[in-house]
Amino acid sequence: MAFSLSELQIRRYARHIVLPGVGGRGQRRLLQSRVLIIGMGGLGCPMALYLTAAGVGTIGIIDDDVVDLSNLQRQVLFRTEDVGRPKAEVARERLQALNPDVTVIPYVERFTAANARRLVAAYDLVLDGSDNFPTKYLVSDVCVWEGKPLIWGAIFQYEGQIGMVPPGGRPCYRCLLPTPPPPDLVPDCQQAGVFGALPGIIGAMQAFEALKWLLGLGTSLAGRLLAFDGLQAEWTAVRVERRPDCPVCGDHPTIFEPVDYEVFCGISR
Ligand SMILES: [Zn+2]
Repeated sequence: MAFSLSELQIRRYARHIVLPGVGGRGQRRLLQSRVLIIGMGGLGCPMALYLTAAGVGTIGIIDDDVVDLSNLQRQVLFRTEDVGRPKAEVARERLQALNPDVTVIPYVERFTAANARRLVAAYDLVLDGSDNFPTKYLVSDVCVWEGKPLIWGAIFQYEGQIGMVPPGGRPCYRCLLPTPPPPDLVPDCQQAGVFGALPGIIGAMQAFEALKWLLGLGTSLAGRLLAFDGLQAEWTAVRVERRPDCPVCGDHPTIFEPVDYEVFCGISR
């Protein structure tokens, strides 16, 4: 679909348009792109803000939670008056106000085995900002099956990680972590705590990698992960090898449809 940027769009995206590698053509490409963000928490907020500001045309947001007072320490899209309101709805309002070029589609529901494939199939790229292993495995598996790229992020206290699953996997998230750690060894943000600006660093990095991917720029994180040690102020790159015996993206896959990961990960509701 050919279209030209309006006068206002040329002004809004001026710093992109002058950039080698983006230009008017790249900006039009962003405006035609569709990105799904899973979870509107500490990671989801900066991802959504930067993708919206950059003019990614359609952004889906899935989160079934409401804003809690304890979220405001790091979830920068929300205000005190939003406490009690659905995060996906508040996010839509804020993001539309930031950039009316962008269509924000809120899904006030959980990302589950039942809706995962339908949601992922409707987007070009998936960003995972979830805070639990069952969702992370589910997102990775479904992205492999649907042939969609995934950029995942994870945070814990003062540390963060970011990685990518290329379309079709090889490697996928399961190649990195074949079995989830025992639930009693995995405290969530509520129990473990998370340092204020940390999700901003990892979430903005996910947004950066997403924009790169959509524009075909530079080198992606496929086959690597970046680990951030905030207290030491250090980034480390780690290779992630594909596993020939991976049950999802290996040579002889054994899993072909979404698994009930709450059971797989040993978590009882
Ligand atoms: Zn794999």
